[in-house]
Amino acid sequence: MTEYEPVIGLEVHAELLTESKMFCGCRVVDSVEAPPNTAVCPVCLGMPGMLPVINRRAIEMAMRVALALNCTIQPHNVFARKNYFYPDLPKAYQISQYELPLAINGWVDIDIDADQPEKRQKRIYIRRVHLEEDTGKLTHLENGHGSLIDFNRSGVPLLEIVSEPDMNSIPETRNYAMKIRQILRYLGVNSGDMEKGVIRFEANVSLRPAGSTQLGTRTEIKNLNSFRALTDAIAYELDRQQELLDAGKEIVQDTMGWSEARRETFSQRGKEEAHDYRYFPEPDLPPLAISAAWVEEVKISLPELPDAKMARYLTEHNITPYEANVLAEERPVAEWYEATVAADGDPSAVANWMINVLFSFMNEHKLTIEQIKVTPAGLVELLSLIEAEIINNNTAKEVLAIMFTTGRSAQEVVDERGLAQISDEEQIATLIAQVLDDNPEQVRDYLQGKEQLRGWFVGQVMRSSRGKANPTLVNKLLTMQLSSLKEA
Ligand code: ADP
Ligand code: MG
Ligand code: ZN
Repeated sequence: MTEYEPVIGLEVHAELLTESKMFCGCRVVDSVEAPPNTAVCPVCLGMPGMLPVINRRAIEMAMRVALALNCTIQPHNVFARKNYFYPDLPKAYQISQYELPLAINGWVDIDIDADQPEKRQKRIYIRRVHLEEDTGKLTHLENGHGSLIDFNRSGVPLLEIVSEPDMNSIPETRNYAMKIRQILRYLGVNSGDMEKGVIRFEANVSLRPAGSTQLGTRTEIKNLNSFRALTDAIAYELDRQQELLDAGKEIVQDTMGWSEARRETFSQRGKEEAHDYRYFPEPDLPPLAISAAWVEEVKISLPELPDAKMARYLTEHNITPYEANVLAEERPVAEWYEATVAADGDPSAVANWMINVLFSFMNEHKLTIEQIKVTPAGLVELLSLIEAEIINNNTAKEVLAIMFTTGRSAQEVVDERGLAQISDEEQIATLIAQVLDDNPEQVRDYLQGKEQLRGWFVGQVMRSSRGKANPTLVNKLLTMQLSSLKEA
């Protein structure tokens, strides 16, 4: 039987976090919290005779994304009418871009296997990035009692990022989608809040005989709202196509929906072509000219992106690839880490304390790094207390936990609770002598060769000092006392 290879192209729709809508002055409101139909006006309700005006900020945000995705910004942009009827689209056309999109020919590198830090990368090419307006939101009532419509979303700037059919597996597609989401969040143009529907995917899926360079007939799955829906829908569709091909049948080009309930794709309308939409240039908007100077201005304002950050952490900070990856993942985390290093924190120690201690406190208390009371300078102070052997690692963890809940500084916590390490040799020698005195049996066993009891003695001394004895000194002085016992 013929072996087939999956070919997948993805369209990502992302709402832009502008203050106002794409073509009117209505506020962009939270789709879940705002009461329905409270951020609407004649323009976004599609009343006759109303005129759209382009939102400059939306164009700028779209340019940020396009440039971060290595696209070429086109100097001459034209908005187009995409005509179709649906109850969530009051004008019966959507203002979009068709022949002359904002940007073309970009690329992004994705991890082929995200679980491997020494990952191999693959370059996915991006065909186009363009702007359009979002539609209203329909909610179909159960048991067929009709549908509700909320036009708050109508006219919200929507960015569409269209890839080439360059993905050849589900993990690749998922990693590509996650990478796009990460970049959108880094640029501050989208919250990445999938539950609120601010990013939606459309997957184009086909199969071709392995090794072939021709594209097979594709189906397009619309409106996938989560990574899970994305991957499950593609898996289902690949299986369905495989079965058809194995049975010697043909794939029919189609637009599909995804049923969350039945976990299967279903045909929505049969073959759909661009000419069905009767695209034509939007007569109510002038062409949009984008000057080279504007492009340059936006380019300069771009933040350092995750891949560049990760590479820099590896060379400049000499932390592990795993650490660099985790710390570069989200911009606020990366910025916190960098602020800590800038405050003279040792990069390896900072990475270790953030990833292994701070993050677990954050998880436990369900806080983001922007919400915590510990500051970069605060962590550096804690590390300096360890460095100066005023506290040991275990005490430092306790101290950080208290800093985390109270916002007190490391020094304050150590002073208030008397947590400073005991580094007085005489005091430690006394503690050791006491432990050896109290445990004659263990001392006898040790002297008869049960060497592993040494660690137990250390533990007892640490306990009797309530964790405050300087471990290096405990080890040194214990060795001395035990060997003098041996000689006696
Ligand atoms: P439209 O959806 O408007 O018809 P295109 O034909 O340009 O637009 O394709 C949209 C998406 O489909 C792109 O992401 C592209 O990579 C992908 N695509 C096109 N042909 C195939 C194919 N045979 N298999 C998989 N994906 C495809
Ligand atoms: Mg499409
Ligand atoms: Zn409006």
